[in-house]
Amino acid sequence: MSSGIVFDIRKFSVHDGPGIRTAVFLKGCPLDCPWCHNPEGRDPRPAILRRAERCILCHACDKACPLGIDPRREAGGPACAACPDFGACARACPAESLQLVGRRMAVDELMQELRKDRPFYDDSGGGVTFTGGEPLSQPGFLGDLLDACRAEGIHTAVETSGYAKQSVVLDVAARTDLLLFDLKIIDGGKASEILGVDYGVCLGNLKEAARAAATGATTLAPRGSAPVIVRMPFIPGYNDSGEELAAVSDFVRAAGPGILGIHLLPYHSSARGKYKLWNIDYRLAALEAPDDAAIEAALAVLSAGGMPARKGG
Ligand code: SF4
Ligand code: SF4
Repeated sequence: MSSGIVFDIRKFSVHDGPGIRTAVFLKGCPLDCPWCHNPEGRDPRPAILRRAERCILCHACDKACPLGIDPRREAGGPACAACPDFGACARACPAESLQLVGRRMAVDELMQELRKDRPFYDDSGGGVTFTGGEPLSQPGFLGDLLDACRAEGIHTAVETSGYAKQSVVLDVAARTDLLLFDLKIIDGGKASEILGVDYGVCLGNLKEAARAAATGATTLAPRGSAPVIVRMPFIPGYNDSGEELAAVSDFVRAAGPGILGIHLLPYHSSARGKYKLWNIDYRLAALEAPDDAAIEAALAVLSAGGMPARKGG
């Protein structure tokens, strides 16, 4: 069984698919969305967060460091690339002044954790949602996790930008129960400039995933391919114009019955603190969240062609 890098496990989520869910965050994402809520999840490698204000000067980290550097100043920095036990300093820190973000977990270890919430999945019609980061950036690990959940009858959802080889997207679609497919900006050229990848790949994969979901069972997907819910972050100045929303509505409708609906995710600035903690420039620092009237108007445009659209979490 494979292993992969997980940077968070959040229990009792009610915004990442049906029912009560456990959200598993896989590390690594090739996109550069300015509104990203998990900037610590972009780098595929584990990282160390330093919070000097919590330090109680116990020096446990110094003793744990195999390279003899000063973890309070340098943990997670360039010198740590040679560390034979990356994160030993953080594991030794009793004050969470040093925190390891991202650790390698085997499928079995993660399944043990997920099984603990089984009663909540069963009572609520919930399950497990794999998100990130971009979960498709660890395809082997993700596929094994999906198979392990399916073998135990645990419902799964995968939240993805769709930025991967088409074969990877369709393989995952055949092994999960629901795809939560981000649609960030409908104009592929504009999206590519902002997000730093060829966004046409994502749009093409969304169409293909919808087509596969509508086709039913095939040799490659004997249980059929997962239905798709489109999730659209709603970001003032980026994708909130009437033309943009109408084009999204047309695109989704044309993609066919494999798409169940659209969830609109209005921008909010709650990630600002994370950017500060990680010392990452937050490009949307001056952006105001859309008001209720703007959200309602957007939902009206998205649903005008008959596709169900609602505000998501
Ligand atoms: S990651 Fe390794 S080398 Fe770097 S400070 Fe921690 S224990 Fe030392
Ligand atoms: S182990 Fe943690 S609390 Fe102790 S000196 Fe190091 S950073 Fe500070």
